[in-house]
Amino acid sequence: VILGVDIGGTRIKAGLVGEDGALVRQSAIDTPRTIGEFRDALAALVGQFEDWSRAGIGAKGIINPETTRVEVLPGTMHYLEGHRLDEFIPGAAADNDARAAMAGEIRWGAARGCRNALMLTLGTGIGGAILADSRMLRGANGIAGHVGHFTIDPDGPPCICGNRGCLETAFSSTAIESEALALLRRGCDTSLPQNPTCRQVFDCAAGGDDAARWVVDRAIYRLGAGIAGLVHLLDPELIVIGGQVAAAGAALLGPLAHEVHWRTRGLLRRDIPLVPQQAGDNSGIVGAAALVTG
Ligand SMILES: [Zn+2]
Repeated sequence: VILGVDIGGTRIKAGLVGEDGALVRQSAIDTPRTIGEFRDALAALVGQFEDWSRAGIGAKGIINPETTRVEVLPGTMHYLEGHRLDEFIPGAAADNDARAAMAGEIRWGAARGCRNALMLTLGTGIGGAILADSRMLRGANGIAGHVGHFTIDPDGPPCICGNRGCLETAFSSTAIESEALALLRRGCDTSLPQNPTCRQVFDCAAGGDDAARWVVDRAIYRLGAGIAGLVHLLDPELIVIGGQVAAAGAALLGPLAHEVHWRTRGLLRRDIPLVPQQAGDNSGIVGAAALVTG
């Protein structure tokens, strides 16, 4: 049994994962605000579990899997930068959370048996990971797979990374919510509530609201264009879609597949499958466990 730990910006989740990828037991805590609190809280969380022999950690930021060192981590968890994650759980393997989620899908989930695959996690931003010729791409600085910062519009809105028109400025829960809010402020005729959540925008679109429909269609159109570019670059066997926005299910995957297919059919001569990630809500814990090999 492997202990999987998913260190996120708001919650830290841990659980025991069997050799078949099944989650046996899990627990979670709020992410602490200081390194001292983090050390104590993580020790208490890990202490809830017994009978595990090896541990894997998935965390936000750029992680060096050779040393488990957190190389770059901006934001509220900046205090972890420069620390080795195996200093908190001795002997643990560690990697970036998106790569961990993909490791889980390769080992036990939607990408099992693949040599080439692309994964996108659609949330407040877009995370991602790339399996190319059976290797997880890392790049010279550990940045490879940051598909959320693939430029799709040279004149687009500024992105947190300093670039303009990145994929995640066009499609993310944040982008969809701010687009819907702009329509409300302009006084458009819509059934959207004040300060709509991404989920509410999808729900209103499904319910026949034209303004919400426009926001959703436009976001999917642009995400599809970005993915098509990545498909031409990487030639994956399939694309795994995860993250909380992917909970929209067929309302997202259907039109997104259509958009990707017409743009890529000419070179690919086939319709590349877009499949939901299998681990679902537990993908962070299961993926972290998948980092432990052998
Ligand atoms: Zn960016």
